[in-house]
Amino acid sequence: MPVQPILKYPHPVLKKLCHTVVQIDQSIHDLVQDLVDTMHEGPGSVGVAASQIGVTLRVCVVDVSKNRHGKDNNHGLLRMINPEITSRSGLATMREGCMSVPDYTGDVDRATEITLSFSEPDGTHREITASGFEAVAIQHEMDHLDGLRFPEKITDDDKLHWVLEDEFPQYRNQERWRNWDKKCSRKQWDLIKSGKLNDALQ
Ligand SMILES: [Zn+2]
Repeated sequence: MPVQPILKYPHPVLKKLCHTVVQIDQSIHDLVQDLVDTMHEGPGSVGVAASQIGVTLRVCVVDVSKNRHGKDNNHGLLRMINPEITSRSGLATMREGCMSVPDYTGDVDRATEITLSFSEPDGTHREITASGFEAVAIQHEMDHLDGLRFPEKITDDDKLHWVLEDEFPQYRNQERWRNWDKKCSRKQWDLIKSGKLNDALQ
């Protein structure tokens, strides 16, 4: 199945609350496959949610097994239909980015361990407990199903940074990110996500 284009801010679909899947039919199988293919196409991507390819249904995929942060602690490829977190514990801050929010990165607080239930594409009900990087990736993708992107989870104006792709080596070099001066305040982000500003530096 084809790789789908990723919608980017301020696309209105990214702000939509996604609907529960009522019946797992062929269209859902196709959607799951599109999400898997699109995730594998994205450089370093560890997850994609349906709304990112324009479908407002509660479906997302996550696979952190090839990522250095997740390779030792993961459930492989997760294809999740109607995922629901039933418990969460712990708190950690991790730097996040998103294919729908290019050129930004920020520190987001997340639970370090979550238990969630979801349906597999074959209809099987499954419950897993995820921790560490995999738990973060799942929470990030599930936020998309509620119309949220990671900058909305950031509560500190200092913690959303504007970093162009070719600046990342510099950003990571000797923890330069600690003093990165290209910041995006939450006020600016509010304007960006509503489409009133095209990027943080305008
Ligand atoms: Zn994302």
